[in-house]
Amino acid sequence: MRLSRFHLATVKEVPADAEIASHRLMLRTGMIRKLAAGIYTWSPLGLRVLSKVENIVREEMDRAGALELLMPSIQPKELWEETGRWEKFGGQLLKIKDRKDAAYCYGPTHEEVITDYARNELRSYKQLPVNFYQIQTKFRDEIRPRFGVMRAREFLMKDAYSFHLTQDCLANEYRNMYDTYGRIFTRLGLKFRAVQADTGAIGGNASHEFQVLADSGEDAIAFSTGSDYAANIEMAEALAPATPRPAPAQALERIATPTQKTIDEVSAFLGVKPVQCVKTILVRGSDGLVALCVRGDHEVNEVKAAKLAELPGEALLADEAEIVRMTGVKPGFIGPAGLPDTIPVIVDRSAAVLADFVCGGNQDGSHYTGANWERDARITRIADIRKVVEGDPSPDGQGTLKIARGIEVGHVFQLGDRYARALGATVLDDTGKAQVMQMGCYGIGVSRIVAAAIEQNHDDAGIIWPEPMAPWRVAICPIGAAQSAQVREEAEKLYDELAARGIDVLLDDRGLRPGPMFADIELIGVPHRIVVSERGLATGTFEYRRRGESENRSLSRDDLARLFD
Ligand code: ATP
Ligand code: MG
Repeated sequence: MRLSRFHLATVKEVPADAEIASHRLMLRTGMIRKLAAGIYTWSPLGLRVLSKVENIVREEMDRAGALELLMPSIQPKELWEETGRWEKFGGQLLKIKDRKDAAYCYGPTHEEVITDYARNELRSYKQLPVNFYQIQTKFRDEIRPRFGVMRAREFLMKDAYSFHLTQDCLANEYRNMYDTYGRIFTRLGLKFRAVQADTGAIGGNASHEFQVLADSGEDAIAFSTGSDYAANIEMAEALAPATPRPAPAQALERIATPTQKTIDEVSAFLGVKPVQCVKTILVRGSDGLVALCVRGDHEVNEVKAAKLAELPGEALLADEAEIVRMTGVKPGFIGPAGLPDTIPVIVDRSAAVLADFVCGGNQDGSHYTGANWERDARITRIADIRKVVEGDPSPDGQGTLKIARGIEVGHVFQLGDRYARALGATVLDDTGKAQVMQMGCYGIGVSRIVAAAIEQNHDDAGIIWPEPMAPWRVAICPIGAAQSAQVREEAEKLYDELAARGIDVLLDDRGLRPGPMFADIELIGVPHRIVVSERGLATGTFEYRRRGESENRSLSRDDLARLFD
């Protein structure tokens, strides 16, 4: 590509709401332009990168035996009613009407459509197993679209769906997809981890997320120092402490804490550590309020809590008015000792082994010290309801946990028969009996990968693309081409040679001065830069620099040719 013919539109200033590096750099390079909240145009530059990612995903899916198809993005309401998700999917579902007033949604995912296709197409177990995939635009009306294409409303996803007669067969394909995802992210040059994930409202048996490691990631992942255990923090089990609860040594005492509400305020005021306090959170149960108690230095894990039998499938905090109505006390002063009997008290495993602890006094402006379970405070049930923290023992018994941040770029899921049953997708088995099919689903955030790769690979000058997704592999930068026929000719010659070898090469023939030219080439992250100048040509060399390195190398034409073998 000759840069003079390309639409390169780099900019210096970016909007203040571009909070993270990838968002800023995608705007500065001009890879994307915003049309509306969470909705972007991919420029020719951006699309070059996006297409490279897409092609690698496609190649590996094909290699794994999956079959590409393309489903509509507009999906009829009736189909979504069959699975109950027209209502359940919630606000992320963009609902639209046609001129006849018929309701549709813009597809946020395609389980309904593919299962409808499968129930019509697949008749016999002999057609199984089969894995269909597409690479297609999705729309989710995210509450908080942000970080550019990282959490967009319209985005590109690779979604695959497999169909099986048996669970064993599903488990095999799940493994196949898990391995395929590993190959895709390795080929893309990303640092990633596969982590156990929550199966959430969809249910199902097994699920893993593929997380690109980056400090700006929205997810927290826990992994063991002593084994290959890794899980989304939502999932990671907090084991019960090995040491039993000590016997009570102190008497229960009410202390005035007129303005101290948070654990930090109370522990500082009383001179005790947060680990010696019990934090009580009131949430909405299926029937009235439920108290969740964790140690003062721990946090409630809402995903774990949502699974408690006492809760309606989600952990919603009670609001202040509700709390005051049910307990007569303001939120900062609630504790398990003396709480009304109608409120179940679910105690985390670590909080349950405390003795002589500090907790809310169930009277405005007071806390208890010397509180003890059973003697002063009721335990309805002990459960794992907290988030793991760094240093906790690994749930598999090997090593301790570390916490890192990640960006979810892929998700594999054993769905089982949830959708096939709802939509009546059956095949005849070898005895001629109709069987509901088993399903797996496998997603990759194709457009999110582009942003995630930048989060992992950038410096002050711009993007440092992993070679497989770079818009071009090599940039040729002639210096003084306007004045020197030799520079022009040598640059053209090099360009033709590399292009003839099938290498994605860019010739910066815009006639810019070296400073602005290099700044652009570094900003857009081209991995290899070759400078053609009269000075170099005088000694038969080219100045070469690899993006991300700070030193130039003088290379002969032969050396250069070998670099791209
Ligand atoms: P998240 O937890 O980040 O909202 P999700 O669990 O809703 O993601 P899936 O339904 O598993 O996502 O979708 C498959 C993949 O699509 C995700 O792994 C992610 O990479 C990508 N993805 C999901 N939502 C978005 C979005 N709003 N913008 C860009 N990519 C997205
Ligand atoms: Mg997910």
